[in-house]
Amino acid sequence: MHKPTLWVFLTLLISPVALAQEDYYFPGEKFDPAIPAPSQYLGYEIGEWHTRYDLIVKYFEKLDELSELAQLQTIGYTHEHRPKVILTLTSAANMANLEQIRLKQIQLADPSQSKPDVNAMPSIIHLGYGVHGNEPSSAEAAMLTAYWILASQSDLARTLREEAVIHIDPTLNPDGRDRHSLWANSNKGFPPVADPMDREHNEAWPGGRTNHYWFDLNRDWLPLAHPESRAKVEWYHQWYPNVTTDFHEMGTNSTYFFEPTKPYGSENPVVPRKNYDDINPRFAKYFAKYMDEIGSLYWTKEVFDNSYPGYGSTYPDIHGGLGLVFETASSRGHVQSSQRGDITFAFTIRNHVVNSLATMEAALDNRVYMHDYLREFFESAKAEGEKDAAKSYVFGDEFDESRNRLFVNYLLDHKIKVYENSVDLTLSGQSFKKGKSWTVPTNQSQYRMVRTMFEYEKEFADSVFYDASAWTVAAAYGMPFSAAPGAKIGNGTEEVSAPSFTFPEGKAYAYLIDWSDYYAPKLLHELQKAGIHIEAVHRPFSSQTHEGKVDFAAGTLMIPMGFQKLKPEESIAKIKELAAKTNQRVYAVTTGLNLSGIDLGSNLVSAIRQPKVLMMVGNGINAGEAGEIWNLLDQQYGLPLTKVNSDQFGRVNLFDYNTLILPSGNYNTLSENQLSHLKDWLNRGGTVISIKTASVWLNQKGITKEAAVELEAEPTDPDSLPFAVRNDFEGAKEVGGSIYLAELDLTHPIAYGYRRKTLPVYRNSSIFIRPSQDKYLTPVRYAAEPHLGGYISKTNLEKVSQSAGVVISPIGQGSVIHFFDNPNFRGAWFGTNRLFMNAIFHGDNMN
Ligand SMILES: [Zn+2]
Repeated sequence: MHKPTLWVFLTLLISPVALAQEDYYFPGEKFDPAIPAPSQYLGYEIGEWHTRYDLIVKYFEKLDELSELAQLQTIGYTHEHRPKVILTLTSAANMANLEQIRLKQIQLADPSQSKPDVNAMPSIIHLGYGVHGNEPSSAEAAMLTAYWILASQSDLARTLREEAVIHIDPTLNPDGRDRHSLWANSNKGFPPVADPMDREHNEAWPGGRTNHYWFDLNRDWLPLAHPESRAKVEWYHQWYPNVTTDFHEMGTNSTYFFEPTKPYGSENPVVPRKNYDDINPRFAKYFAKYMDEIGSLYWTKEVFDNSYPGYGSTYPDIHGGLGLVFETASSRGHVQSSQRGDITFAFTIRNHVVNSLATMEAALDNRVYMHDYLREFFESAKAEGEKDAAKSYVFGDEFDESRNRLFVNYLLDHKIKVYENSVDLTLSGQSFKKGKSWTVPTNQSQYRMVRTMFEYEKEFADSVFYDASAWTVAAAYGMPFSAAPGAKIGNGTEEVSAPSFTFPEGKAYAYLIDWSDYYAPKLLHELQKAGIHIEAVHRPFSSQTHEGKVDFAAGTLMIPMGFQKLKPEESIAKIKELAAKTNQRVYAVTTGLNLSGIDLGSNLVSAIRQPKVLMMVGNGINAGEAGEIWNLLDQQYGLPLTKVNSDQFGRVNLFDYNTLILPSGNYNTLSENQLSHLKDWLNRGGTVISIKTASVWLNQKGITKEAAVELEAEPTDPDSLPFAVRNDFEGAKEVGGSIYLAELDLTHPIAYGYRRKTLPVYRNSSIFIRPSQDKYLTPVRYAAEPHLGGYISKTNLEKVSQSAGVVISPIGQGSVIHFFDNPNFRGAWFGTNRLFMNAIFHGDNMN
């Protein structure tokens, strides 16, 4: 409703500065006085403070309340329970017809339906801001942009309201935003201090870029590991926007970046060239025009990777729209000195405001063109999919119902069509069981996402990657899969619900639980927490169970009923309840005498230690990797984790724990006393799980003895090269992120639960370690020809093929378990999580 409240008039009267400020962001524009500018609503100038997220939401609620042209909705919640909101802005006529408009847009994106009349369809514009919490100008720009769309009396704004539906997501990462805003506001000086050394400009670890679990949400559009991204992608598929923005900040001494990104090498291989060659330049003209008007410097094309589908500016490119990344120089704080003088927060905000306006004007001028492109995109996707020699992909793991379910539901979240298999299949030497395997046909409008899930890319036009160069998601899930040209398609899969198993009734001598299912460690943890005594059987065996003869693999869980502290009926009730809760199948046996293999009281059966886990975090430690571990233990397994700051390590008594995790990082701040405490604890049975550079440090300190293979210069290096090519040439030697085939020692506890000898692993470091001199202690090593996908130089590939994935270093009664690749990468590597969970539960059985 357009009902100016008394409050608005009062604010107008008492804040003359607000008018001056609107002149800075929107010189000469006239606004509807019934709509309060952000400064009027908040009581301070935009740029004067970092606006708390709840106030941003409150301002949007106010717009929704005051105007029938604005509608606010909550699409989900963050980990810290902040609402994820979208503000929709359009004319009253469009608003009354919003659901029809949305359905037309979906119809346009679906080649199986007739093409609607695009001339009559408004442009769908999605303005996304603030995926990185410590790049705060964008959310302030979101408020100003919303205000302008709603209140500006200009012809452009009026046309826009009539011919477009604009969705504003003010902050893709509210938890990180507030973490950073609190820092910047609470360290602000009066007067503000521009000195880059001031505390205001140097956030404490881990900073506000990431979300609650220290994940970069601008990598999560593909893996969907977090509720923020799941809500956003679900929303995306309800609208198929023609244009989607993603606003960022970069270094204080830089200027402004807009697309096009670096040609060819940094582009995604499945995106039609038209996106890069035609659409991007069309839009770039508008950004340049707006930036020229305010005299702000900018650049294009030189760098910025646009290939990884988990970026907010790439995912839309794989869905028939245009995704746009913008980067402004950062004031990081309220004002910071730079080579061009002081950069104010307001300056960075204005850069994003004008590019928001430029995006909308470009979208409006290309409204029909972008609608036609959306249609073409999905038509050509389907046509290419029909010609693809693979025809379809079959996948499924007969031993892991939970991982199957996670992967199927994940594909469905990306709107990929999946069909359950109704027959057993054998494809490229792998068997796929009916009911436990699925088919994804290539002939579907999401064909380009199908490629993203199942294809390995090995050929690249460039060799420097800002980030991952491989993302075959089926490999990340550890899914056996194969192209299947002749596969028949059954009924479409809506979603896969958890299996329900009948708990064995009657007297049991022991219960047995297979360790292959993804959530078996969750059940183990819950049982231990409930006081159930539980053991692991370290060799394969066969038993006569209540379901007949069953072959069990090494690592099977065994609950001996004669050794429980709880009363039998209480134990049984607990086991039944927790098995149902975690969807695990429990077998009962009435004897310890097995049909074959070892018996249940063998010396090769041992009690499982209840993990008490400590992880080092803080300055110098890789927050992303630490966050992946924290997220895994919390979100998948409910296992408590004590995170201790490295500067508090001196206060820790390691003997209160049995497992210490050292993520990649610099541990040189540890004192000699702390080191000897660590050695003492290890000698007396402690387990260290150490990742990449943490392992290098342990070697340097003489705690372990694994020798890092020296990184030699590329043999093809000429003696002299032009200075200007240095970044590109040296960058090509990095392992940005790619996928390799590893071989497992299935008899080693690190590999319990795996049934196949080979496993795809993710590597994003150039630390290469020789296998252990003890021939039993390299349970994960790379295959002779390990390269599955992603960029790697020839020399580095040779080193990979000679190196180890996991090495165990025995230290007295304890051990260090070294990981040289990342088993928990981006919360997406479900296939290798088990290696890590085995290190947690079986750390005392590793040597
Ligand atoms: Zn950013």
